Amino acid sequence: MKDAAPQTVYLEDYTPFGFTVEKVDLTFRLAPSATRVRSKIRFAPKPDAPGRRFFLHGEDLKPISTRIDGTEITPRHVEGGIELNAPDTPFTFEAEVEIDPAANTALEGLYMSGGMYCTQCEAEGFRKITWYPDRPDVMAPFSVRIEGDMPVMLSNGNPGASGPGFAEWHDPWPKPAYLFALVAGDLRNHPDSFTTMSGKTVDLNIWVRPGDEGKCAFGMEALKKSMAWDEKVYGREYDLDVFNIVAVDDFNMGAMENKGLNIFNSSCVLASPETSTDANFERIEAIIAHEYFHNWTGNRITCRDWFQLCLKEGLTVFRDAEFTADMRSAPVKRIEDVIALRARQFREDNGPLAHPVRPQSFVEINNFYTATVYEKGAELIGMLKTLVGDDAYARALDLYFTRHDGDAATIEDWLKVFEDATGRDLTQFKRWYDEAGTPRLSWSEAFEDGTYTLTFRQHTPPTPGQPDKAPRVIPIAVGLLNPNGDEVQPTTVLEMTEPEQSFTFDGLSAKPVPSILRDFSAPVILETRTDTATRAFLLAHDTDPFNRWQAGRDLALDCLLAMIRDGAAPDTAYLDALHTLIRDDTQDPAFRALALGLPSQDELAQLLHDHGHTPDPQAIWEALETLKQARAEAFHDTATRLHAQYQVEAPYAPDAAQSAARSLANAAMAMLTQLDGGALAQKQFDSADNMTRQLAALSALISAGRGDEATRRFYDQWKHDRLVIDKWFSVQIANATPDTAADTAKALTRHPDFTIRNPNRFRATLGALTMNPAGFHHASGKGYALLADHLIALDPLNPQTTARMCTAFETWRRYDSDRQALIEAELHRILATPGLSGDTTEMITRILG
Ligand SMILES: [Zn+2]
Repeated sequence: MKDAAPQTVYLEDYTPFGFTVEKVDLTFRLAPSATRVRSKIRFAPKPDAPGRRFFLHGEDLKPISTRIDGTEITPRHVEGGIELNAPDTPFTFEAEVEIDPAANTALEGLYMSGGMYCTQCEAEGFRKITWYPDRPDVMAPFSVRIEGDMPVMLSNGNPGASGPGFAEWHDPWPKPAYLFALVAGDLRNHPDSFTTMSGKTVDLNIWVRPGDEGKCAFGMEALKKSMAWDEKVYGREYDLDVFNIVAVDDFNMGAMENKGLNIFNSSCVLASPETSTDANFERIEAIIAHEYFHNWTGNRITCRDWFQLCLKEGLTVFRDAEFTADMRSAPVKRIEDVIALRARQFREDNGPLAHPVRPQSFVEINNFYTATVYEKGAELIGMLKTLVGDDAYARALDLYFTRHDGDAATIEDWLKVFEDATGRDLTQFKRWYDEAGTPRLSWSEAFEDGTYTLTFRQHTPPTPGQPDKAPRVIPIAVGLLNPNGDEVQPTTVLEMTEPEQSFTFDGLSAKPVPSILRDFSAPVILETRTDTATRAFLLAHDTDPFNRWQAGRDLALDCLLAMIRDGAAPDTAYLDALHTLIRDDTQDPAFRALALGLPSQDELAQLLHDHGHTPDPQAIWEALETLKQARAEAFHDTATRLHAQYQVEAPYAPDAAQSAARSLANAAMAMLTQLDGGALAQKQFDSADNMTRQLAALSALISAGRGDEATRRFYDQWKHDRLVIDKWFSVQIANATPDTAADTAKALTRHPDFTIRNPNRFRATLGALTMNPAGFHHASGKGYALLADHLIALDPLNPQTTARMCTAFETWRRYDSDRQALIEAELHRILATPGLSGDTTEMITRILG
């Protein structure tokens, strides 16, 4: 592994490549430690290209030969690639290189996973395969020939000739190199087909390791639903004869949208009722949809450069959220997404790693596959749609597909489409793409002579490199309720553009209760906190499901803050309001289960910090435990009834209705475990016939301190199944007490099944520790030391996963000086490691600030 001195790349320095690539032919002769890659690439100089430097990226390649128009040449080896004198007329570049997939532990480029060959090229992995202009704005049709002794050999596009020892593939659609893929191995397929809206039959396959064939059916159904949905909602049809998905065990990300050959982390595609939870099924359905939707938003229209990553990711996350909302419950999906946005993106936006949705510079693009680019990027699409309306959004998207099909586009192109389709000026809206930071919104109200006035103020705190912020355009969805709970003003969208702005509502007979930021219409923090009575009123009466949930969440937050700061007892107003909701069987069980969810330790720590307090992780954990106990005692009879009533008798189905019932029953079981010490959880564990029930019971038993026997039995039952064993690792750490979490994680890193080389197992162990904040932030510093030890060990093997895991430290400045000193020492210890990768160096340097 060699790493060049880290260099910062700037958006403003973008220059087009001076050549067009007309055609790419690749031949792979596969061998684990010495794969030969022959390339034949047709280049044509662009007539108007300035400079015309002919530079091809390449890393860790062993050169065998290089030719231009058949004549052997000697290229100049320069930083990150080769340079040569190119002819002024179209020419053919040929090269042969040797690469070593078996030694590739970084999982970028061509590598081996469990005996199979696979690739990951986004963002810059193709340069580890052969010499090429590895940048997304160079698009070309690829033909690939694979030679080797593997039974199944796949690449992008449509299949061509094949026979013993070889297979050929041709992808007619011009694509950037980051969408290239190759897979070869002993694989089994789960086949199906789909007829598109124009009547074309597409062969569908999910390829898996022998033994996993039984875990493909759900993924295949999800794929067919996604294809039908994209036709119906966006008018987008699939464009090849075949669509292949491959499951790979060793993978840095969730999945990758390579043209016609999606490669998935096996945890994001393989599913069965016995081995997967309801949450796993929902996530798999969403990820399959996401990668499929990229065929249009990402592949047919790609990004001009990596600064535009949100162009494909924000839009595609938004599309997959719409899909899940249509397949399942829209309010539940929205609430889940906002919980995740606040947990990951707000946290990022409030710390040293804050960056705009479209960054202006980066050192290592792999470090910018972030919650900000993805999740906040999706929120921006949602705001655009709210501002222009559904019809105009549909017109703008049609124009986007028509105007930019086959392009490598920018955020400016994207916004221009909306301006042209709607006549709106989006100059102010563009600040959302260019400026980091979460806007704070406060409001006040006045009522006089039947006129109700809402006045809003906005401000955005400084972020690294961006001290001053101008006002944003914020769509604020508002509804008004009269004092007896009837809605007197249905949802209306107020468009805020000024630092301070008032909106009036006339003809009201009494002062209404406002429901503000319905459906979370903008990714902002509402600073104005209403009183307990108003929150309880909204929890009972609001017609907007998101704001009803938010009212309950605010009650819980206020209750917990009073407990942590003032040592108060759990607030009976919160307990009463929640109890009224959860025993009401007319309410959706999924909504009730969400209402029973408590704010995370991390969210409480951030809120305390925002209010000028130093969060104590141990005190936060204790307050949550006390509140859980108080709820269990107050809700005992209701919990007993709900647990019995919401058992699903029908055969297992991972649909919205059944998973809603299971989630409420499991929430009830968790409450009852506080009282019975785990007796009910033990019964559920012993009789569970699906993973959702089994894992919930195991979690409850471990939390109750009596999980040893169940943990052993779970291991014996599932030791052959690597994805379930990932759960076995993480459930023990996630449910450990603050004093034992780091010790449990450390012991598990010595388990024979632990391996640092598999990203899923690494995340299930060290990642799980960081998700147990009271354990990770233990005052002794043992959590920090354990993570740092493993980041130092992982970095030389897999810089990308190492760098991503460093974000566990991003909140360090919230904590007391002792903890800060401990973390700072660990960050400096990591930074001082000889040969530390550029990825990790960039992350640690930014976190230190
Ligand atoms: Zn994506």
